Amino acid sequence: MFSQHLDFSHERDLNIDELVRRVKAYMPDADEALLKKGYIFAERSHLGQKRSSGEPYIVHPVNVAATLIKLRLDLDSIISGLLHDVVEDCEVEPEEIEKEFGTDIAQIVVGLTKISKIKFKTREENQAENFRKMVVAMAKDLRVIMVKLADRMHNMRTLQYVSEEKQKKIAQETLDIYVPLASRLGINSVKGELEDLCLRFLHPDVYYRLAEKVSMKKSERESYIRDTVSIMYEKLQEYGVKGEVMGRPKHFFSIYKKMISRGVDFEQLHDVLAFRIMVGNITECYKSLGIIHSSFIPIPGRFKDYIAIPKVNNYQSLHTTVIGPKAERIEIQIRTSEMDEVAETGVAAHWKYKEVKSEKKLDWVEELLEFNRNVTSNTEFLDAVKNDLDIGGVFIFTPTGDVKELKYGATPLDFAFSIHTEVGVKCIGAKVNGKMVPLKYRLKSGDTVEVLTSKTQTPSKDWLKIVKTSRAKTKIKQWLLKVEREKNQEVGEDIFEKALRIYGYSIGRLKKGTDLDKALRDFNVSNIDELYIHIGSGKFAVKDVISKIPSLSKNLEESDDKKIEELDTYYNKLHSRVKKSANKDNAVLVEGAGDVLVRMGRCCNPIPGDPILGFITRGRGITIHKADCNRVQESEMNRQLEVEWNDAFTFKHPVNIRVITHDRPGILSHISKKIGNAGINIRSAIAKSLPDQKGSFIFEVEVKDFSELLKTIAAIESMEYVIGVTRV
Ligand code: MN
Repeated sequence: MFSQHLDFSHERDLNIDELVRRVKAYMPDADEALLKKGYIFAERSHLGQKRSSGEPYIVHPVNVAATLIKLRLDLDSIISGLLHDVVEDCEVEPEEIEKEFGTDIAQIVVGLTKISKIKFKTREENQAENFRKMVVAMAKDLRVIMVKLADRMHNMRTLQYVSEEKQKKIAQETLDIYVPLASRLGINSVKGELEDLCLRFLHPDVYYRLAEKVSMKKSERESYIRDTVSIMYEKLQEYGVKGEVMGRPKHFFSIYKKMISRGVDFEQLHDVLAFRIMVGNITECYKSLGIIHSSFIPIPGRFKDYIAIPKVNNYQSLHTTVIGPKAERIEIQIRTSEMDEVAETGVAAHWKYKEVKSEKKLDWVEELLEFNRNVTSNTEFLDAVKNDLDIGGVFIFTPTGDVKELKYGATPLDFAFSIHTEVGVKCIGAKVNGKMVPLKYRLKSGDTVEVLTSKTQTPSKDWLKIVKTSRAKTKIKQWLLKVEREKNQEVGEDIFEKALRIYGYSIGRLKKGTDLDKALRDFNVSNIDELYIHIGSGKFAVKDVISKIPSLSKNLEESDDKKIEELDTYYNKLHSRVKKSANKDNAVLVEGAGDVLVRMGRCCNPIPGDPILGFITRGRGITIHKADCNRVQESEMNRQLEVEWNDAFTFKHPVNIRVITHDRPGILSHISKKIGNAGINIRSAIAKSLPDQKGSFIFEVEVKDFSELLKTIAAIESMEYVIGVTRV
């Protein structure tokens, strides 16, 4: 099992035989000869070079390789770790590495050399940019970043040998860039270790004081840990759960963060210990939680279920805080051993479970990126960076070498609209890296895109389903609207002319007199074209318009009725054709049906993003329910039909959320403010007191879709005194 805390300490006397032994321990079939060849190549290249510590340089790449082995990465990564500095420091040509070790290793080493040349900006505003640069490097091969993190780990481990100025600079860069990166990739063992090292070099006073405090009551603490572990272990045994219980002091950096966020000193911090229960499967996780909660008093609001809802970096675990056996608050994490491995080594764990080719690794990065596709604005992005380092977009190259950044999931069509609207509306396809791709192809970072256009091309409504960027969406909608107006104008003019002809009149003749101006005034439109548009769209009936023109209305004769009827038929035909092409008023698209009455089921109130089903009701059109709604389950199969959300429909949907809180004065206004700050409109709020000093609030909020609802719920959940938030 992988339960032991990974130790990344500098190993002075590590040699190639020991590396081989460690690799063979988990990869018995690894190519030993190639590994040795990598070592000899590195040793020869670095011959005569020394580290700041005075040690031969080869000690560094060997330790980097050792870290990669601890994370159980593949052989290519480990050999790349041995060779990572030879291109930069020893003037070895990449071609030589490729010849000796193959394309993959050569590309990883070249990627690492590139990263070392990136000029990271230190100001906070540029964090997002820094991170994006790293992502571009990572998108090629995730192993580049893994080796880079291992490299940084060893440099931080041996930072005491460089000047103080350099210590601070490197530690700050590590905290700004590499720590968030390790966190985003879910490699908590590396993250925790790097954080503590950063603290040591950035705030040595804090670090050494904490170290002293933690070691001062060491034996007392250790016996407390031992006792608590054995009590928890016995409780689990009692209920037949087989598991492992561990306890240890938290990382210094997380203690330091707690001290700052709570504004208290070390003595006042009680929860400096972390306990972990590891069991065989998910059922046992929840069972263990029940046992712990019935044996100790849980602190309300501190329970988090990351098993049901994993963090974006795939971290899974149950978290809870209870009053421990000595009346101290203790934090407990409950997880399976597999989850524990993912928590410690993050993405690295993926290499262990399945043999993935480098193509697959790219997919994985994309999955990672996709979690954050909703993040668009720069401020929003920075917030995300501060939280848990999220990723925003893809970088695309024009044939002339310019770089454009687009939202994740963007298509060649988005790219075309980002160049110019005229290029967008005429776009018929694109060549990506020299190959033809369909319009809905998803662009990847590093793609070079050449847009193909045609003079006869025009946007269609389907494009709205393809594009991802709001710019492209807006431009397409504007274009469609313009086309619709033009069409309406044409239809309106045609009908109006025909109507005039029935009365022996013409537009030219009408324009000469004052009758037309009067009609325009009566209908409150500024010119005749606008009048046509409204006639064409069906807003004004042509009969009504005629009746407002004095010189015509007095000529009205009985015999003209039939002609007007003809006109109506003609008009309806034209009009219905126009109408069919513009059903952006429906939230839901029903396959094979044009304009049907669609209503949202009151029982489950679906919003965009929810899986849905249509349900044909007698005489009331189609009702939309969530796919898991009881009404759908009960209804006959032949009355169900497949429907999908209409992306072109952008209205807000009302939805109710219930918030349970501890009773605190002003809590309602705090929550309202939080919702308002998220840009969400509150329609109504109901407050109620519950027994046990609790409050219950129901807010009716208006959201665009499910993801906006989730964001709102998450924002409220993060508030102090909030116990739970549910959609009702
Ligand atoms: Mn290095």
